[in-house]
Amino acid sequence: MNVRDSEAVAALLSAAGYEEAASEEDADIAIVNSCTVRERAENKAVGKTGYLLAAKRAGRLKAAGLMGCAVQRLGESVFKALPGLDFAVGPRRYGAIPRLIERALAGESGMLEISGPDEVPQSMDAHGDCGFRAFTTVLLGCDNRCSYCIVPDVRGREYSRPAREVAAEAAALAARGVKEITLLGQSVLRYGRRNPAFAPDDPPSPGGYREPFPRLLEMLQTIPGLERIRFTSGHPSGCTDELVRAFAEMPKVCRHLHLPVQSGSDRVLKEMGRGYTRARYLAAVAKLRAFDPEFAVTTDVIVGYPGETDADFEDTRSLMEEAGFDNAFVFKYSPRPGTRSALLADDVPREEKERRDAVLLADQDARGAARNARLAGTVRRILAEGPSARNAARWSGRDGGNRITVFEPGAAPPAPGTFLDVRITRTAPQTLYGEIA
Ligand code: SAH
Ligand code: SF4
Repeated sequence: MNVRDSEAVAALLSAAGYEEAASEEDADIAIVNSCTVRERAENKAVGKTGYLLAAKRAGRLKAAGLMGCAVQRLGESVFKALPGLDFAVGPRRYGAIPRLIERALAGESGMLEISGPDEVPQSMDAHGDCGFRAFTTVLLGCDNRCSYCIVPDVRGREYSRPAREVAAEAAALAARGVKEITLLGQSVLRYGRRNPAFAPDDPPSPGGYREPFPRLLEMLQTIPGLERIRFTSGHPSGCTDELVRAFAEMPKVCRHLHLPVQSGSDRVLKEMGRGYTRARYLAAVAKLRAFDPEFAVTTDVIVGYPGETDADFEDTRSLMEEAGFDNAFVFKYSPRPGTRSALLADDVPREEKERRDAVLLADQDARGAARNARLAGTVRRILAEGPSARNAARWSGRDGGNRITVFEPGAAPPAPGTFLDVRITRTAPQTLYGEIA
């Protein structure tokens, strides 16, 4: 989501006549985008901004600003933490940035722009040169109140962008060569639940879809040139029969869902207020895999939630095995000010959080190896991205399940953004290897 927000701000600045600097050292103006989901992320963003302010004092920068969730959390106090900061902008006020830069260049400083929780932002559809893949935010904010999470406080209440607006943005991207689009929302399957996303005069769903999210997918599915549609993050309550039907009926919709589970212990899930039990979560995964056993499911897990016992942790381990995740991101619990769980003692010692983190990652490596091994010998449709990060002589891309696939490009390397059929010859926990079929 922050990558997308940075891209949108860069596009607004290009439209206002600014040019992207070749490097940080070459820049006249610098803006740091911040995340506050975990304390470490916020500290990094604030630390980096402090470093830029030193460059400004030394005369190497003309203006410096901070944007993102940390600003919304810190409010006015951001200027105490960062004296000399020219401007600070919360998530729903990014449209103000070009004007704030002008004012900063004219000598103003300490300007704060934060929003109320229900504000509807402008200029959501600005894109820079995004190549063949693009993100678009379809659902802002979050109306859930997971005990550990600061997102609802800093990103405001849910607001679904009108489906028509999203479709127009996707069509414009496709016309510029975008092949793959990822729809973003904290709980994206809740699209169109709090506010209507479809107008009464929108055409009815040809496939008879009644739920707003599958209906949005159906609308995007018809856009010429757009070949792949992804979305993140999911929640088991959104894994409805209609969603499964959409996956089955719409070939452009990738068979991958990022479905954060957070914990496998019913006791912890209840304390977190996640709104599902272990059994209900596993039923959602089973439903997706029932129509396609290769359906990719990835997840987020938190280790070391207050009071998490060994038994709770073992429940998480066994859930991850039962769900057969294709990939997992593991986070060490970080208390965030103002959340319900911040009132509880952060009582799992750091070394124990690290141990649990390492155990889950090792489990996931073994699981990923086994799951990927089943794909050896298959031919997969890959969207080629370019030379691989580790070895420039090879290329990498992703299959529909978002699995990284490395292949020999052959004598005439394909253009980035081309679809290729790759036969898988070898597999690793997080990577498939193959040759162009
Ligand atoms: N909306 C998404 C998650 C957004 S935050 C969802 O509910 O699925 C991304 C991830 O950060 C979460 O899935 C969670 O695993 C992690 N996270 C959020 N708050 C955290 C905290 N206080 N400490 C550690 N990890 C946290
Ligand atoms: Fe945070 Fe829960 Fe909302 Fe995700 S669903 S953003 S974890 S409150």
